[in-house]
Amino acid sequence: MPRLVELTGAGKVATTAAAGTAAAVTLVPDPQSGFGHDSGIWNKKNPFPAKLKQRILLNGQGSLKETIHVELDLAGSGLYYKPGDALGVVPVNCPQVVDDMLRLAGFRGDEIFEQDGRFDSLQELLTRDYDVTGLSKHLLGKYAPFAKNKQLERLLQDDNAAKLQEYIYGREIRDLFLDFPPADNLSTDQFLGLLRKLPPRLYSIASSLKAHPDEVHLTVGVVRYNAHNKERKGVCSSYLADLVQTGDTVPVYIHENRNFALPADPDTPIIMVGPGTGIAPFRAFIEERVATGAKGKNWLFFGDQRFQYDFLYQLEWQDYLNSGALNRLDVAFSRDTEQKVYVQHRMLEQAKQLYAWLQEGACFYVCGDASRMAKDVHKALIDIYVQEGGMSSEAAEAAVQQLQKDRRYQKDVY
Ligand SMILES: Cc1cc2nc3c(=O)[nH]c(=O)nc-3n(C[C@H](O)[C@H](O)[C@H](O)COP(=O)(O)OP(=O)(O)OC[C@H]3O[C@@H](n4cnc5c(N)ncnc54)[C@H](O)[C@@H]3O)c2cc1C
Repeated sequence: MPRLVELTGAGKVATTAAAGTAAAVTLVPDPQSGFGHDSGIWNKKNPFPAKLKQRILLNGQGSLKETIHVELDLAGSGLYYKPGDALGVVPVNCPQVVDDMLRLAGFRGDEIFEQDGRFDSLQELLTRDYDVTGLSKHLLGKYAPFAKNKQLERLLQDDNAAKLQEYIYGREIRDLFLDFPPADNLSTDQFLGLLRKLPPRLYSIASSLKAHPDEVHLTVGVVRYNAHNKERKGVCSSYLADLVQTGDTVPVYIHENRNFALPADPDTPIIMVGPGTGIAPFRAFIEERVATGAKGKNWLFFGDQRFQYDFLYQLEWQDYLNSGALNRLDVAFSRDTEQKVYVQHRMLEQAKQLYAWLQEGACFYVCGDASRMAKDVHKALIDIYVQEGGMSSEAAEAAVQQLQKDRRYQKDVY
C-alpha cells in the first residue's frame, strides 16, 4: 500500500532528488510513466510501451457494434509471439471516472503518496493502479461499515443474494458511493484499502509476426452500454478506443497460450469457428499459413449481427478465398433474417463436409463468447458426430472428448 506523504510546505517530497519540490510533483496522470523500460524483459509487471500505429473501426456506419482493429509497434522490444497467443494490455482508467470517484469519496486528488521512492498523487494512483469501476460483493462488504446504512447491510445478508446480484448488475463503484455515501470522512488509506489493483486485460492476437514483423494486431469489441440511466464503458476497450492516440504508447506483454495453436503439421486441415471478435486468432492463423506456404486446407465460420455492417475483415477473407488460401468460408448474420442464424446453424448445414474434414484429420478451433456461443458450437459438433457418424449421443460425446484429448479440438473462449 502506498504511504500518504504529509505535505507541510515543501516538506518530505522535497527530500528526494527525483521528486524535486512539492510544486514540481506532477499531478497530471501520465499513463506512460511508471513502467520500467530498460530491463528488456517484458511481462505483466514490466510491460513494453508499444506505440499505437493504427486504429480502424471495422464496423460500417449504422452498425450496433463497435469493433476496432488495433495495430501496435513492437520494434525494439524483442517480443515474440505465435498465432494463438494473447496480448496483455495494461490500461489506465477514464479521467472522468477517476474525478467522480475522488469527488464522491471526498478527496481533492492532489494528496501525495510515496511507494518505493516514487511519488504519486492520489489522482495518479487511481488512474493507473486501482480498479475504480468493478463492483463486487467483496467490495460492498468492505465498504458497508463506512456507509453505516441499514439498506446496504440488508442487501449483504445471506438470504438476499438475488437482490444483491440485481443491485451489482450494471453498476460501478461510483454508484455505490452515490447510493450509500460514507457516513464519516474516509481516510485515504481506508479508501485505497477498498479497491483492488487494476487488472490487465487479455486480447487474442490477430496477426502473424511473419506477415507483420515488429507489429501486433488486435480485434477489440468496445464495451459501451447504458445501465441505470448512465452511459458506461469498459475500462480497457474504451482506453484503446478513446484515450490512446496514434503515436501514444500502450503497455503490453505477451501471454503465451499453449492450448491454442496451429497444428505442427502444415498439411493438416483446420476448421475455425470465430464469430465477432472471435475472428482475431484466425486472422493470425491464415496469415501464418500463407507466410509459411502451409498446404493444409482452411475453413472459416464467421458470424455477427449484419452482413452489411459487421463482416469483420471482409475484404481480406475475400482475397484469401480468391487466392485459394482460404478453401471455405461460411457466414451467419443473425440480424439479417427473421429467424436468427448463428455459426452453429451453418456448421449443421455443412455437417457432411465438416465430418469428412474431421475424418481426414482436421483440427477444430473455436474462439469468442464462452457464455453461449462456445456451448452451442460444442453441441453442434456432437450432433454432427451423431448424424454423420451414425453414433449414439454418448458415443458422439466420447468422440468429441477424444478430439479434445488429441488436441484436435481447441478453444480460446472468454
Ligand atoms: C484469453 C482472452 C482473450 C480475449 N480476446 C479478446 C479479443 O480478441 N477481443 C476482445 O474484444 N476481447 C477479448 N477478450 C476480453 C477482454 O479481455 C476484456 O474482457 C474485454 O475487452 C472487456 O474489458 P473492458 O476492460 O473493456 O471492460 P470491463 O471494464 O472489464 O467491463 C466489462 C464488464 O462490464 C459489464 N458489462 C458489460 N456490458 C454490460 C451490459 N450491457 N450491461 C451490464 N453490464 C455490462 C460486465 O460486468 C462486464 O464484465 C479476451 C479475454 C480473454 C480472457
